[in-house]
Amino acid sequence: MSALVTTVGLSPTSLPELPYVGNRVVRVGIMGGTFDPIHNGHLVAAEVAMGEVGLDVVLFMPAGSPAFKQDRHVSDPEDRYAMTLLATSDNPQFLTSRFEIARPGITYTAETLGQLHEHYGDACHLYFISGADAIASILTWKDADKLASLATFVGATRPGYDLESAQRGIEESGLDFDVRYLEIPALSISSSYLRERVSQGKSVRYLTPDAVVGYIEKRGLYRS
Ligand code: ATP
Ligand code: MG
Repeated sequence: MSALVTTVGLSPTSLPELPYVGNRVVRVGIMGGTFDPIHNGHLVAAEVAMGEVGLDVVLFMPAGSPAFKQDRHVSDPEDRYAMTLLATSDNPQFLTSRFEIARPGITYTAETLGQLHEHYGDACHLYFISGADAIASILTWKDADKLASLATFVGATRPGYDLESAQRGIEESGLDFDVRYLEIPALSISSSYLRERVSQGKSVRYLTPDAVVGYIEKRGLYRS
């Protein structure tokens, strides 16, 4: 079955078809973010999660209007989607979806995971990939109790990160979160860092794929 051919997610609102993996549940990583712009930290985290957790695919979902970023200018969703698509296009296991950017209003993770669960049903298990810091603050997210039941959480950490305090918070919450941690040495790369460099006329080559570097230049993004 050549399901992957139809999964690039070019259709406006649909979610990609899952790959055929035989008689078992498909393990789908969800990489949500603003991706303003996407960078090699995101891509390395997805790649490490694939290998360590044994994911079949990672679904990159640029956020429409992110809940935590109402206070700063966020680039046009179409630009963020285009950059994410460009950055993931050479990896058949990385899929990019327009699902969140096509949706009006603020993006809440619980809602998205709930809709993914509804759409794919029991054919897949969701693994939500995120920075460990973000996972430590999960308890403050909208519908934290619902979140716990919808996905396994995969937290990216820097080597030397204090896992215990993050884990303690989750345990104290009494909520049944399933969290795994991965060490990502490229974790200190951030979109803010790339935006700042571009606004100062500095190079972002090797911090994000060449196609994204070209797109930023062509569209004149982040020139402040
Ligand atoms: P900003 O600097 O604007 O906050 P960002 O680099 O944190 O951007 P986001 O789009 O906010 O990027 O992040 C999307 C997801 O990727 C979040 O879950 C975040 O924790 C995670 N993430 C961000 N940077 C890295 C990195 N270098 N390594 C692993 N995960 C990362
Ligand atoms: Mg961030």
